[in-house]
Amino acid sequence: MNPAAIKPSDIVRTLDQYVIGQDEAKRVLAVAVHTHFRRIGMNRGGERVLDKSNILIVGPSGCGKTLLCETLARQMSVPFVTADATSLAQTRFVGDEIEAILTRLVEQADGNLEKASRGIVFIDEVDKLKADTSGASRATSGESVQHALLKIMEGYPVRFADGRVMDTGGILFICGGAFVGLEQIMSRTHGFGYIAMGEGDENDKKILERLNSRVKPTDLFEYGLIPEFTGRLPIIARIMPLDRDMLIRIMVEPKNALYRQFRVLLAEGGVQLEIAAAVFRQIADIALEYKTGARSLRGIFEELLTPVLYAVPDKPEVKVVRIRSLFDPPQFLKQREPDAQAPAEPPA
Ligand code: ADP
Repeated sequence: MNPAAIKPSDIVRTLDQYVIGQDEAKRVLAVAVHTHFRRIGMNRGGERVLDKSNILIVGPSGCGKTLLCETLARQMSVPFVTADATSLAQTRFVGDEIEAILTRLVEQADGNLEKASRGIVFIDEVDKLKADTSGASRATSGESVQHALLKIMEGYPVRFADGRVMDTGGILFICGGAFVGLEQIMSRTHGFGYIAMGEGDENDKKILERLNSRVKPTDLFEYGLIPEFTGRLPIIARIMPLDRDMLIRIMVEPKNALYRQFRVLLAEGGVQLEIAAAVFRQIADIALEYKTGARSLRGIFEELLTPVLYAVPDKPEVKVVRIRSLFDPPQFLKQREPDAQAPAEPPA
């Protein structure tokens, strides 16, 4: 399907199947991506009718930034790669690294340059590229990476080592970052609306609240991104931290949710897995303590189910595995087997 024919509401519906919450970010992304692919269609034939708008996603790590981009690219059937801004900042040859990202995009497009030039590149941790105002010598490196990225984000053609030239004008760049401390900058600079509004009605208050919670380019300058770079990221989507309920939903609801994956795995061996609601709450509480968004869920799940996956193949009589608490293993794991492999008594 032509990506430009997919409506923003269709995009959101698909995102909803894989990503829990983040409704505002989903809408912002859906409109931006839809507009992007329409723009490519309108600009065909050489004339630039609409300018490109790349996207910045701001929010804590492990809360769905990469997942949103990946899901979008899959739905649009366009090649997709991710890269890390911190690794760009660690290299002396930023240009080569950026070329390597685009080479991966071409590989994702099975070598088809034209297809690759309509792909999506997600660059995470751009907040780590902030220009250091302390004057330390490493300070320029983040800034020079911003300059290097700007070139491809602006759509300059890139010449590969093999001489092939790629038009980057149709590539959608999505940058991401946690931007720790941005809230403080925003709360310092966004407060005036409330004062100016005085005793406004509830609706006005809501509108102002939303305006105040928007990240503005000036907040990003203050954070340390250069104006040219933020200028290339006019669309800003915010990702919210995941609360306990969202973490629970993430384990259960998405099409490829962890619970579903493990149920399928065990069902294939003829075993039904049932995990009580209390267990999901316990896992979510641990994940909240780890402060890595949903990232730790898989590890906790694996730890919980490894003893089950280990023992079940030896016990054909077990048809149902019920887990009632994270701290209370299922009954069949508690029964101690006579140790068949015990070494024989040493001869007297
Ligand atoms: P980041 O925001 O750092 O890019 P990711 O999108 O890579 O985080 O999330 C890490 C993992 O956590 C994903 O692979 C996914 O399994 C899970 N996850 C994070 N946020 C969500 C969410 N909102 N809905 C569903 N799964 C999520």
